[in-house]
Amino acid sequence: ETGTPAVSSPRIIALANQKGGVGKTTTAINLAAALATSGQKVLLVDMDPQGNASTGLGVGYDARSAGAYAMLEDGARAADVVQSSEVPGLSLVAADTELAGAELELVMADRREYRLRDALAQIGADYDVVLIDCPPSLGLLTLNALVAAHSVIVPLQCEFFALEGISQLVRTVNSVRQSLNPALKLDGIVLTMYDRRNNLSELVADDARSFFGDKVMETLIPRNIRISEAQSHGQPVMNYDTRSSGSQAYQALAVEVAERLALGVAAKGKVR
Ligand code: ADP
Ligand code: MG
Repeated sequence: ETGTPAVSSPRIIALANQKGGVGKTTTAINLAAALATSGQKVLLVDMDPQGNASTGLGVGYDARSAGAYAMLEDGARAADVVQSSEVPGLSLVAADTELAGAELELVMADRREYRLRDALAQIGADYDVVLIDCPPSLGLLTLNALVAAHSVIVPLQCEFFALEGISQLVRTVNSVRQSLNPALKLDGIVLTMYDRRNNLSELVADDARSFFGDKVMETLIPRNIRISEAQSHGQPVMNYDTRSSGSQAYQALAVEVAERLALGVAAKGKVR
């Protein structure tokens, strides 16, 4: 396909926001599933010790083999710790049960900020996209994700104080860019839990757009109960209830992300 560069290594995207409950994990799971279903080879790396991305893909606490902790602490390669998921084309590096200890253990480690980058260095053409689900903090786990990634996508919940703390996140991204990962980009803001009946949602969306301009994705993720139900069943929402507004929105987001990032497959046939 002309106009699309040959993909020799995957695009690595961190989903980060130090606030909890804003939709990082939900976006990681459902964007990953929608990209995979559109033909991309996707790897989701669960870097949150809570392991909600793993659980949300049907890999419960007891089913977790070596995963993110093994990469960070034992020098395992991503390829050694990948598990398949029930979604064709979507693989997972789970949050292993020891991951909670990693934040402290890494403090003393050699190349402590580069552990994830090193682990992902040789995955080559096995994947088109790697999504990293970050914990709700700006500690060493998130730092490892920001150092390994080409770019960051920030989920922003359409609620009170949504933008509070965003400047700290932007500062962190800037300082990582200045030191550990000069190529790191902010790829976008995803507005989550949007409620069109609530004026506040619109206000947050307007604020985000005036602050971040066209970095804000056009696709709005609505508040939709099917999304959280799906998660509790260990499924992406598109597998649980394809026709729900949440499922439609995440599929639209996947198309938009693929187009913005020139990922190719989902935008197949389009001339640009
Ligand atoms: P984070 O990873 O940022 O902490 P989550 O993705 O875990 O946030 O979302 C927090 C909670 O909100 C979860 O219970 C999730 O199921 C729910 N949730 C996330 N997005 C939506 C949505 N669009 N509609 C309804 N519930 C949602
Ligand atoms: Mg989470």
